[in-house]
Amino acid sequence: MTGHSDHIWDQDTLHEECGVFGIFDHADAGALSVLGLHALQHRGQEAAGIVTYDEGHFIAERHQGLVGDAFGRGSNAAKNLKGRFAIGHNRYSTAGGSRASNIQPIFADLAGGGLAIAHNGNLTNAHTLRQELVAQGAIFQSTSDTETIVHLTARSPKQRIVEKLIDALCQVEGAYSLVALTSKKLIGVRDPNGVRPLVMGNLDGATIFASETCALDIIGAEYMRDVKPGEMVVVDKDGIHSHFPFKPQQHRFCVFEYIYFARPDSTLEGRNVYQARKNIGAVLAQEAPVIADIVIPVPDSGVPAALGFANEARISFELGIIRNHYVGRTFIEPSDSIRHLGVRLKHNPNRAMLKGKKVVLVDDSIVRGTTSKKIVAMVRDAGAAEVHFRVSSPPTTHSCFYGVDTPNTDDLLAHKMDVEQMRRFIGADSLAFISMNGLYRAMGQADRNAAAPKFCDACFTGDYPIALTDISGGTRQLSLLADVA
Ligand code: AMP
Repeated sequence: MTGHSDHIWDQDTLHEECGVFGIFDHADAGALSVLGLHALQHRGQEAAGIVTYDEGHFIAERHQGLVGDAFGRGSNAAKNLKGRFAIGHNRYSTAGGSRASNIQPIFADLAGGGLAIAHNGNLTNAHTLRQELVAQGAIFQSTSDTETIVHLTARSPKQRIVEKLIDALCQVEGAYSLVALTSKKLIGVRDPNGVRPLVMGNLDGATIFASETCALDIIGAEYMRDVKPGEMVVVDKDGIHSHFPFKPQQHRFCVFEYIYFARPDSTLEGRNVYQARKNIGAVLAQEAPVIADIVIPVPDSGVPAALGFANEARISFELGIIRNHYVGRTFIEPSDSIRHLGVRLKHNPNRAMLKGKKVVLVDDSIVRGTTSKKIVAMVRDAGAAEVHFRVSSPPTTHSCFYGVDTPNTDDLLAHKMDVEQMRRFIGADSLAFISMNGLYRAMGQADRNAAAPKFCDACFTGDYPIALTDISGGTRQLSLLADVA
């Protein structure tokens, strides 16, 4: 979902990753949703919310902060969530932040009954639609583009809620995996390109939707299948019904989910994330070999790729940097100065391991270059003889408009510099990124163009599969909601 942004990466950035969860017909629906969201915490740390339906009314608990803080011991929130039906949401960004009205699930009383929606992704025509709706008299409660879907649903002339929601989604462009709850139905739906993940599971006969399989594992649910691109799955007391109401599009799952975003123990679209990352590391070692003593991951995200690299290169894998897990991700710190400090708070060199060594450092991505620059300096200060940086993604040259939080294109290091300039900027002895074709090879495809590209790789190629209607001036995004916030 998206909201007005005060994001430290870029004041104009509106993109957020999120996690969604839904469960239909289980006595512990609320508590299971808390656990599901806890497993999806990596997809959003800013706020968490759950809406349940119980005997004629909806109950909402929406809170700032981590799931454990909001719904854990000492909070009544989980106890309040009565009912056999629930949806939940983790929100990523600091954006719109502190506005409680932006915390999902969004709930509205429509003519035909209540509707709660939780959304992962980003709409690329939300601003355009919102302006039209506001001109027609719609009153928005939040700055979130998910509310646009609610307004469109409410205004649909169709009779039934499922038809109304389809009507609304036919008007939106962008990437979305969403779960919706009415008094009678749980609905899970993915955009026609299937950019963001959504899986289905079963627990004691109850149907579950979740962003990733790790949310099924935590509650002991059985994985059933992924929701297909463009599929709307409707669950009610009569069973599970599958619809394909949208014009089919090419399947373009986000490759960055495999590189960085998803949890390594999740399996998305039949592919285990950890294994994908190891494969990428192995191909990277073939493409950009180094003579070195040790391979070191930038923890935690670089760990599987570094393992794959080390195995392939037959160089020992060592933990040369130790991460303190009790600080948040570096880039959700509130200001630039603290973000720089954050890297030091978060990582410490394991000096005994680094002294005098030729080191290969592996990380999943270089975005602004802040992390890599700090880490290279840290490893050198700890006595490393050489520092070679290897990146398990191609250079990030373009912003994501489909739900991954990235700075504006102008602030991406790879947009401003070639590889040699980046090497100098981060202070490494050598720097190499996996190639685009190497990435596809690691994912089991001969090369990017051997078949139609099967991933969304716009952040590396600028090949945006979904129209960017709200965007003006090429790849620069508008501050979509600034005029209405
Ligand atoms: P930077 O320091 O700006 O170059 O960012 C790169 C670091 O941020 C890498 O260590 C990545 O693991 C991490 N990273 C990359 N993309 C994201 C994202 N969308 N959300 C959170 N962290 C990210």
